[in-house]
Amino acid sequence: MGSTTLLTAVSDFLRREHGHFINGQCSSGSGTRRPVIDPASARRIAEVHDGGAAEVAAAMAAAQAAFNGEWAATPTLVRGNLLLKLAAALGAHREELAQLETVCTGKTIALSRGLELDQSVAFLRYFAGWAGKISGETLDVSIPSFAGEKYRAFTVREPLGVVVGILPWNFSIMIALWKCAAALICGNTVVLKPSEFTPLTLLRVAELAQEVGFPPGILNVINGDGKTLGPLLVNHPACAKVSFTGSMTTGRSVGNACSARGIPVTLELGGKNAALFLDDLSVEEMVAGILEAGYVNQGQICASAERFYLPAGKIDAVLQLLSQRLATFTPASPLDDDCPLGPLANAPHLEKVQGLIAAAQRDGDRLICGGTRPAGEGYYLLPAAIAARSADSAIMQQETFGPVGAFLAWQQEEQALQWINDSPYGLSASVWTHDLSKALRYSERIQAGTVWINMHTFLDPALPFGGIKGSGNGREFGSAFINDYTRLKSVMMRY
Ligand code: NAD
Repeated sequence: MGSTTLLTAVSDFLRREHGHFINGQCSSGSGTRRPVIDPASARRIAEVHDGGAAEVAAAMAAAQAAFNGEWAATPTLVRGNLLLKLAAALGAHREELAQLETVCTGKTIALSRGLELDQSVAFLRYFAGWAGKISGETLDVSIPSFAGEKYRAFTVREPLGVVVGILPWNFSIMIALWKCAAALICGNTVVLKPSEFTPLTLLRVAELAQEVGFPPGILNVINGDGKTLGPLLVNHPACAKVSFTGSMTTGRSVGNACSARGIPVTLELGGKNAALFLDDLSVEEMVAGILEAGYVNQGQICASAERFYLPAGKIDAVLQLLSQRLATFTPASPLDDDCPLGPLANAPHLEKVQGLIAAAQRDGDRLICGGTRPAGEGYYLLPAAIAARSADSAIMQQETFGPVGAFLAWQQEEQALQWINDSPYGLSASVWTHDLSKALRYSERIQAGTVWINMHTFLDPALPFGGIKGSGNGREFGSAFINDYTRLKSVMMRY
């Protein structure tokens, strides 16, 4: 195992003039240049021009023209085949894209390869497999017949038009492809807006889509400031649906704008996900579960657990062993094959997470370990564990989206279940125990879009994913995506 050397393809790509991908062409536009920062070094590695009203107009017009023209008439199996070709291209460019993702997000190269890229390929293949299977039904109607006439009724699933996807920075390829592949297999066209912190990887993916034969205008990428571009995209007359992934605050404003326009919206928002550990587990088992649930990718996974409820008799031993394990997470270059700890993804996020840790300490919560910045460059933060003062502590209620576990002891399981549900969020949760009967019963009572048992954070293309309460609405993948990316038309005839 060693350190990865950047491929020439990656260094060459970083040096290029970047902006947008509209109507099958890369264009930099003339907007302000925004730096792209490598979080491991805090150094500028590229620049991207911000888009504005002109780029939005061009991207939406291209997507609308493609929808009205070739794409809607393209047989679904051909659309599926294009997704398979894109999956193959991602596989062929796996190392290049993984390196690009790592230098732009700070994600370790192992995660970029094994999670971001390999899972993106899996999701593309899954959506491609829906080709030819998205259909309505034939219905038995009861219209009275007076002169022998008969009736036949059926429904069809129709694409919506231009889907706008607004994206976060934590999985800049995979989350984009969830939206893009779902929209495209249903016959829509897309305009994607990456986070301003991670504008590059999707531009490369769009180029690959073009190379494998996606017609111009089907998949467009527009970069720039969210506060400017978001409202321009959402309020554009051609925008038929928005699929948003990001924070609860931004998501709510996007949701309000969509509802004012009467267009559908999928909101995949934040979480303050809980993990409940029952007393039958050993201390070692609990620590292994906590590390899996809360600290992968420095906690920058929307479904990661951030609040942990542990039996009162074991919490001290668990926190002691957890501190020892977290101490082995030493900062290293995320390009190292076996990097134990990469940086957080960007400077404002690091500042926000540090602020929440400091506020917790001021509030009387106890910092057990980590939470400080190691010496050296980059946005590194040592993973933290905090023993919370109470269930109401802000650190048990507010999303950090970072490597910060908040821990609370329970005396009775019922009490812990109440604490879990006493949250504005409802994205995910997990129950850890050898008593599967109890785990299943608790999974029925926990208010969350996904409940894992003896595991946490794993997603699968076949299993719908999404939140309830403040964590959003709508579902990504599984068969549930079809409702979100098509509308139903009823047809009835007399014969
Ligand atoms: P964010 O809300 O700050 O930004 C998300 C996107 O919205 C960005 O592309 C941004 O440019 C854009 N945006 C900003 N202002 C806008 C506006 N007024 N109108 C429209 N768009 C606007 O979120 P983030 O910091 O990029 O991502 C972190 C958050 O995302 C966390 O809360 C995390 O839990 C959540 N997240 C959720 C999921 C999920 O599937 N539920 C997945 C990943 C991340």
